[in-house]
Amino acid sequence: MKRVAPEKASCCGCGACANVCPKHAITMQPDSEGFVYPVVEDTLCVDCGLCVTACSIDKERESSTFAQGYAAAQHNDADVVSVSSSGGLFSALCEQVLAQNGVIYGVRFDEAFRVCHARAEIAEDAVRFRGSKYVQSDVGDAMCQAANDLKDGRLVLFSGTPCQIDGLLCFLKAKRVAIENLITCDFVCHGVSSPRVWSDYTAFLAAQNGSLDAFNFRGKENGWHKYYPFIEAGGQNVSKQYKEKNSYFRMYCSSVITRPSCYQCRYTSYERVSDLSLADFWNIDKAAPEMNDDRGTSQVLINTAKGQEWFDRCAVTVRSKTCTKEDVWQPHLEYPTKAPKARAAFWTAYGTLPFAQVIRRYGHYPFTTKCRHAVMPVINKLGLYTLAGKLYKLVFVRNKKQ
Ligand SMILES: Cc1cc2nc3c(=O)[nH]c(=O)nc-3n(C[C@H](O)[C@H](O)[C@H](O)COP(=O)(O)OP(=O)(O)OC[C@H]3O[C@@H](n4cnc5c(N)ncnc54)[C@H](O)[C@@H]3O)c2cc1C
Repeated sequence: MKRVAPEKASCCGCGACANVCPKHAITMQPDSEGFVYPVVEDTLCVDCGLCVTACSIDKERESSTFAQGYAAAQHNDADVVSVSSSGGLFSALCEQVLAQNGVIYGVRFDEAFRVCHARAEIAEDAVRFRGSKYVQSDVGDAMCQAANDLKDGRLVLFSGTPCQIDGLLCFLKAKRVAIENLITCDFVCHGVSSPRVWSDYTAFLAAQNGSLDAFNFRGKENGWHKYYPFIEAGGQNVSKQYKEKNSYFRMYCSSVITRPSCYQCRYTSYERVSDLSLADFWNIDKAAPEMNDDRGTSQVLINTAKGQEWFDRCAVTVRSKTCTKEDVWQPHLEYPTKAPKARAAFWTAYGTLPFAQVIRRYGHYPFTTKCRHAVMPVINKLGLYTLAGKLYKLVFVRNKKQ
């Protein structure tokens, strides 16, 4: 039988198999942690094997001969920067693509704050993609929609995690869809977190305040370096109230709610799958101190000639500076997030205790994270970010990638 049956530890849940199935025999179903995996309906499956062809697990990637470029970038519009995670380079890219009558696929909150991929043809819709949502997105049928747009000759910008982009590329290859008009944009990724825990957290905030009205993981009220989530609930800005006890973000940072496959992510490397890779430029003080205004700077890895062309087009709305490979070093360009010792205990507690009790127990930073947070501002100022990251790897990261 030629059908997907991925192991949990390696399936990233990108949904390429469900998108490619001509019989709609595959659905992505959540497990007890809330992460989705493919489930094949036997009565519908015709064993065509397309799902195996579209699965990125174990597929060798062609190594690129393009001389990768590196840059620091910030959108000229302060309002765009203020609601973007870093310097708003993604928004500049959207503007360029929309100006060419292109279509954008990105990640937004729906009305119930679920995190999902969506399609945008106009700026009013694309702005909802701004800002990182630190939750695994529901890809739905976005890959099928993007394939239809490409077949119709439309220019398509597709953004997502590196594994989602690799899934998209394998899906398009399996469907024999030409990708000349496709621009891909991923980011340096810490890992994605449980949609189920996120749903519990948003319900918890709504119950405490009467309603949840707006959420931005990377609120900049206190500056970019000392960010904390912006939360509007019960008709008021309650960000400060949750600043010290933003339990979801703490569980995200401590990696207890991270998807199992992220702990052995094979995309944590300078070898990228997308045309452009974005990240937070934490080393900005050393790489381009003149650009560090504490409003946020995007780090850009330019991975292909197409990526270079679109990055260059962004110059009309973006100020940028060319950097070195060493300047843009990030932990997750070298190794994946380490599975924390507390992970199993967390999920046992989550399955047995009321949510409020779970976040009282796990919604705080572990000792190592607290130490890192305390020393990072000093390290950034001294321009020692790369060295500190490598030392952290030596001491704390034992499960290195092959
Ligand atoms: C889950 C996650 C983990 C990350 N880990 C790191 C990290 O370890 N180090 C680092 O430097 N940067 C990381 N980033 C990237 C960083 O937060 C910014 O997204 C990046 O700097 C681009 O910011 P921007 O200001 O240019 O654009 P923004 O406006 O912030 O762009 C947001 C972009 O991210 C996409 N996006 C948002 N949420 C999701 C999601 N859940 N899944 C897929 N795509 C999404 C949107 O579609 C859009 O393309 C992570 C982002 C996410 C979503």
